[in-house]
Amino acid sequence: MDREALEREIEERGSEESSVQDQPQCRICLDTGGDDMIAPCHCRGTQKYVHRSCLDHWRSTKEGFAFAHCTECRAVFVLRANVPPDRWWLRLKFQLLVVRDHTVIFFIVQLVVMMLAMLVYKFYGEELREMFEYEDHPYAFYAMSIMAVLLVGLLYGFFIAIICGQRIHERHYHVLAKQELTKEYIVEDREKSESIPELDSSHIMELRMLGLY
Ligand SMILES: [Zn+2]
Ligand SMILES: [Zn+2]
Repeated sequence: MDREALEREIEERGSEESSVQDQPQCRICLDTGGDDMIAPCHCRGTQKYVHRSCLDHWRSTKEGFAFAHCTECRAVFVLRANVPPDRWWLRLKFQLLVVRDHTVIFFIVQLVVMMLAMLVYKFYGEELREMFEYEDHPYAFYAMSIMAVLLVGLLYGFFIAIICGQRIHERHYHVLAKQELTKEYIVEDREKSESIPELDSSHIMELRMLGLY
């Protein structure tokens, strides 16, 4: 092979390679083929494109945040709602389960605080009664004790609700069939759709209530 032909071949190979690189690659399955490849967020380079099916699987199996956001660049996806009207009861069921768990946690916390209060009363009852003038106003003393216990229980319940909130949501996501939800809230391609109307506030509200936005 002469020099010129060799150079030509190298050139061709080079352009072949670069054309492979130009072809969008799915950031999840790393495949370059397949249709319905979208650019859903602000990620660039090899992270830019993703198969819609790969992304929807990711959205339905990861934490709530991943449903409507890129977990890399944290950009919110442009979503289009396609919600059938007959699925409201699934949402209701989900929300009832979440409320039930929070209520159970709240009662457990209240019980623990009550037991601790009784323990304190057992050891420091005399001092407390003297300090808060039990002899003069016995009812006020009891009312105050109950109020204090309720308040502390409420506060702790509140903190634990914040800590466990995401967990509780995740526990019940299977009720919603998140895979279905990804079809109801479709991610738009940022490259192709320039002027997509913003998601309706009622839909955003719903997603927030489900812990998905
Ligand atoms: Zn893929
Ligand atoms: Zn991104």
